[in-house]
Amino acid sequence: LLPVVAVVGRPNVGKSTLVNRIIGRREAVVEDVPGVTRDRVTYKAEWSGHRFLLVDTGGWEREAKGMAAQVAAQAERAMNEADAVMFVLDATVGATDADEDVVKVLRGTKKPVLLIANKVDDSRGEADAAMLWSLGLGEPQAVSSLQGRGMGDMLDNLIAIL
Ligand code: GDP
Ligand code: MG
Repeated sequence: LLPVVAVVGRPNVGKSTLVNRIIGRREAVVEDVPGVTRDRVTYKAEWSGHRFLLVDTGGWEREAKGMAAQVAAQAERAMNEADAVMFVLDATVGATDADEDVVKVLRGTKKPVLLIANKVDDSRGEADAAMLWSLGLGEPQAVSSLQGRGMGDMLDNLIAIL
């Protein structure tokens, strides 16, 4: 039985791009307009000889009212069915109200959480990522899912918590 890792976060932070980067294919649907990811899609992944399942989440209604509540509910559901959670934020934006709602959900779990500070495309973004220490979910993993920056260290840390 492979460990299940849920990838959660609000629309447009780069969850599907991250999933594609990890699985090495372009199967997860990436879209500039938030909301296109089907509810949940599972992919087989492997790093350093460790195999696991990655669950890409999404599926909220476009422009729906209460987006933050939908994101938090989705995160909670995914978290309950997973062994570990990758919580993805856009480091260039920082933590929004919707992100804070997910943080509240994740603080209540005993499951391991890896905080992913995405869109750190160059070294200038490292400071943005460091700001996310304040969320109290441990060390922000600064990555660029688009370019692959920081991916190796992040995946080493993921494997360590599985
Ligand atoms: P999702 O809604 O969280 O699944 O986000 P997507 O993976 O669909 O990405 C949303 C947008 O962010 C797309 O335009 C991506 O190309 C862009 N994006 C994702 N990761 C990165 C990154 O590391 N750096 C930059 N600059 N853009 C990114
Ligand atoms: Mg997506």
